[in-house]
Amino acid sequence: MNSSANSDNQLPHNIEGRSAEVGGISITRLLPTRNKRMVGAWCFLDHAGPVDFAADQGSYVFPHPHIGLQTFTWMIKGEILHRDSLGNSQVISPGQVNLMTAGKGIAHSEDSVHAGGSMHLAQLWIALPDAQRNSPPAFQNYPVLPVITQNGFELTVLVGEMLGKTSPVKVYSPLLGLNLKAQTQADLTLPLNSAFEHAVAALEGEVVVNGETVAPGFLYYLEPGQTDIRIQTHGAVQALLIGGKPFEEDIMMWWNFVARTQDEIEQAIQQWNAGDSNRFAPVQDNTDPPTPAPVLDGVHLKARR
Ligand code: MN
Repeated sequence: MNSSANSDNQLPHNIEGRSAEVGGISITRLLPTRNKRMVGAWCFLDHAGPVDFAADQGSYVFPHPHIGLQTFTWMIKGEILHRDSLGNSQVISPGQVNLMTAGKGIAHSEDSVHAGGSMHLAQLWIALPDAQRNSPPAFQNYPVLPVITQNGFELTVLVGEMLGKTSPVKVYSPLLGLNLKAQTQADLTLPLNSAFEHAVAALEGEVVVNGETVAPGFLYYLEPGQTDIRIQTHGAVQALLIGGKPFEEDIMMWWNFVARTQDEIEQAIQQWNAGDSNRFAPVQDNTDPPTPAPVLDGVHLKARR
């Protein structure tokens, strides 16, 4: 059975993502969806690949801005060149995380074209709390993350803490991010922070979460109050476990922006489209045309979580 309703509030646990196009390739968007907008401060989850490119093909996201969030890129296969308005030029390789803290405003481009070959990644966004969301922008590559071998799984602690290992990735809300990888049949029960809500995404192969099969393209949601989670596989699998304390602020999302009010979104659209370098400096070492922000054109946005 691929979906089940929670008898308390009718929120399905096994939530299907949807297809979208990013950087010229088709991806699966698992957050936000109609049924679930956020998991803790995680407010966006795109899963790209695994995909094989011809030598001169790839994915290229042209220069574009962000505000009010952190972009979190977890590279599984292939390489992406990140360039930004702070002057960073960073190739991210498998096993690494790129974390870009947009704060009040940053612009970047993401380019796999130089690498060819194959690509597999997850990009998530983390909503910044009110106290940090207008801070100066920053970028960091994390080349090494803690890895735990347990019950046939290789666990990489991407964000937060698991089994006594803590990720160095700097976030501003209580969060968990864990990559789970197994080569063959495996069975593992992990402790959970019961104050967190959690979700599991199968990235390659099916995982069985608390007895229910989760296929790639689905996000399996768990309400706060759980003290552990059982994850089983029948074969090779790669999956993501995310979690966090339910976010306490309503957020407004439009395109690449996370804010609180329609005025803030409108101002960011106007400043990016006008090339206002006080807010958004150009991406350095990149002369390609910036992607214009879609205008609201009568749309009334709602702040929610
Ligand atoms: Mn981006």
